[in-house]
Amino acid sequence: MITIKNISKSFGKNEIIKGVDLEIKKGEVVVILGPSGSGKTTFLRCLNFLERADDGELTISDKKVHFKKASSKDILEIRRKTAMVFQQYDLFLHRTAIENIMEGLVIARKVSKAAAYNKGLELLEKVGLKGKEDSYPHQLSGGQQQRVGIARALALNPEVILFDEPTSALDPELVGETLEVIKKVAEEGVTMVIVTHEMSFAYDIADRIIFMEDGVIVEQGTPKEVFEQTKEERTKQFLARFA
Ligand code: ATP
Repeated sequence: MITIKNISKSFGKNEIIKGVDLEIKKGEVVVILGPSGSGKTTFLRCLNFLERADDGELTISDKKVHFKKASSKDILEIRRKTAMVFQQYDLFLHRTAIENIMEGLVIARKVSKAAAYNKGLELLEKVGLKGKEDSYPHQLSGGQQQRVGIARALALNPEVILFDEPTSALDPELVGETLEVIKKVAEEGVTMVIVTHEMSFAYDIADRIIFMEDGVIVEQGTPKEVFEQTKEERTKQFLARFA
């Protein structure tokens, strides 16, 4: 279970996240939708302490921290429980696919190289990249690189994976395969928070859709509730753009 209480974040005088509360159940897939600039990415980055929120509290399983007051040790602990998959697959360019996956296991988790290698092979197969272990990022398509990124996140067995627009940097023909892999991982019960502009994917994968605008949650519910029984005018206007 993840509990976020009253998180807020400003950049200078601009209040980007305005006291948001959110509870995420184990195994739940939460998709955040909203117009550009509404604070979705900032929200995700604050959860992983890539940005330091100004106020609020985060609890992940038994670890509770204050966003502003968290020590570097607290932050390390939270980062162990969260993994982030970015828009731009941020692989180590001079390492092979499997080395990218092994890195965190060997360095941060002190797993033996042999065990990390085996885990890497297993995960590459899971994301549809069997046989690509020795390929370097430049030898892989964007979609394949993104899937290595997903395998790397899975390797660390986090409590939650945070996806920040995982397909927005991909060529359109590579989007589908990446979304399929995310869906497969979700079906295995991995807790996820996903920021995306892919509406049909959101509908398919989400247990809960959150519509965020101007740093607040305007509306939330099941995909059916938010897409088909939309309550708020602002959500209706946003969704109409994709109709
Ligand atoms: P998009 O869908 O376009 O990715 P978003 O909803 O994810 O948008 P954010 O990227 O969270 O929105 O940005 C929210 C606002 O915060 C924007 O106005 C942006 O310019 C501002 N912002 C984000 N990061 C910073 C920063 N490091 N310094 C100053 N302003 C920032």
